Amino acid sequence: MLRTHTCGELNKKHAGMNVILSGWVSRIRDLGGIKFIILRDRYGETQVVVNPDSDAYSTAQEIGREFVIQVEGEVRERPEETKTNTLTGEIEVYASKINILSTAEVPPFFPGEKVSEELRLRYRYIDLRSKMMKDNIILRHKMAQAAREFLNKHGFLEIETPFLTKSTPEGARDFLVPSRLQKGKFYALPQSPQLFKQLLMISGFDKYYQFARCFRDEDLRADRQPEFTQIDIEMSFIDEEDILKIMEEFIRFVYNSVGINLPEKFDRLTYEEAMEKYGSDKPDRRFGMELLDFTEEFIDTEFRVVKNILEINGSVKGFITDIPISRKIASEYEEIVKKFGLGGLLWFKIENDKVISPTAKFLSNNYLKLKEKFKLKEGDVVLLAAYTNRNVLNEALGTLRLKIGKEHFSEKMKSFDALWVIDFPFLEWNEEEQRYVARHHPFTLPKNLDDSPENIKAYAYDMILNGNELGGGSLRIYNEKIQEKVFELIGLSKTEAREKFGFLLDALQLGAPPHGGIAFGFDRMVAIASGSDNIRDVIAFPKTASGVCQLTGAPSDVSKMQLEELGIIINNSNRKNQKD
Ligand code: ASP
Repeated sequence: MLRTHTCGELNKKHAGMNVILSGWVSRIRDLGGIKFIILRDRYGETQVVVNPDSDAYSTAQEIGREFVIQVEGEVRERPEETKTNTLTGEIEVYASKINILSTAEVPPFFPGEKVSEELRLRYRYIDLRSKMMKDNIILRHKMAQAAREFLNKHGFLEIETPFLTKSTPEGARDFLVPSRLQKGKFYALPQSPQLFKQLLMISGFDKYYQFARCFRDEDLRADRQPEFTQIDIEMSFIDEEDILKIMEEFIRFVYNSVGINLPEKFDRLTYEEAMEKYGSDKPDRRFGMELLDFTEEFIDTEFRVVKNILEINGSVKGFITDIPISRKIASEYEEIVKKFGLGGLLWFKIENDKVISPTAKFLSNNYLKLKEKFKLKEGDVVLLAAYTNRNVLNEALGTLRLKIGKEHFSEKMKSFDALWVIDFPFLEWNEEEQRYVARHHPFTLPKNLDDSPENIKAYAYDMILNGNELGGGSLRIYNEKIQEKVFELIGLSKTEAREKFGFLLDALQLGAPPHGGIAFGFDRMVAIASGSDNIRDVIAFPKTASGVCQLTGAPSDVSKMQLEELGIIINNSNRKNQKD
């Protein structure tokens, strides 16, 4: 037997017992001959005492940190004054025998030590020994189990769908896998199981879920991974209300299982409201500062720049806050809105009942109106901008608002806010391709397909938690004629639609029920619960921002023979670090 107990288990009730523990040597201290070893495993840490006169002592002399050892000894209650309130802080184990199971070189860092993320990823198995990473991985497990528990209880079936498949247009680039048996052809790794889950509905499995690994070959942003996990869900014979209701319950249940209470009822904002009030379709409402419309108060302004904008139907918007402000800070904020094409930022502050602002002399009249209408009080700071395109103005101010929120309201950011954003536009104009693309995906059911393209709304919804898109979904088209019409709207010819989605169009003619679903980004879900804003901290073996696995070195070269079998010739001019 390699252990009778774990390192997180023993307390004073075990005093007097002879036990065997196994684990990693976390720390060793030598106090005048007596050695103290902190032994660590997944469950916790236990202090082991080795007296110079015990048989274990000579072995204890040889061990180093991160050795894997087995300790046999007696549990003794610690003297009152040396007790700690850690898991096993009431006891220590007096070693009678130590057995080295595995030696360890001095590691490049010790678990939990502050080192670069690159190093942590390269030696991930050491990093995963740290308390933070261990807790995160356990948290992930608990949330996954809670999710399964809820879905199972509500009659959902867990069904797997293929990894080697045909590309589905989720909007990102596909990872391709060359086929050896069909030389010259490629599989795509799924960006999501979207069409398969719809086919499962057409097959009659009216409630489906899957912890689906999804692959998207995107240029990575800090919070993205080329492969990530979605809790993918689909239901038949439901309307939007049914989905929102049960999914709200689902998310509440999963967070509750790890001690986080989300609101009893999630607010709902239409896409338009979210953009108008927060300048974002994933609003973080925890620090207030809603965007307000000040256009009316500026209608007869003397200020030339603003006047010009208003003359061509522009708007003035902004928000009220109470942060410290100065010319220097304002010009830093100005840079943010300028990135969106705005000319600049207007600001003023109420101090000693006076308006303080570099532009005070131009705008005094407007300030008075604002002060009255918005009941401005001492210390209030108003940040304003004017622009011709209202959407861009909203987005620019929304970005500024979020930056200020993160900088100044970190306390408020510790609370939880969950809501739905609904009523999304169905299409989005793609400048580059000069065509409309589906905002969610082209299988989403439009509400008013016969309207002009820019006015069509979708039965689509996103769940937002603390300013993050936790999940998103839609009702689906279940009629082949509507599906064809949508393909046409996004510029797919009949032949292309057939070629790419013939299987779906066929299925839609062979008995498709009304259905819809959602997918939640599981990595993000766990990251939020863990309090980390880095999703790599909740993934056991993540990749870096450039898509590299530091641990294994993937992606890597492959042998000539492997390439030949696949009928692939690498164009060397495109190849970095060529090796045979
Ligand atoms: N497949 C969609 C996505 O990955 C989610 C859904 O519509 O269910 O974003």
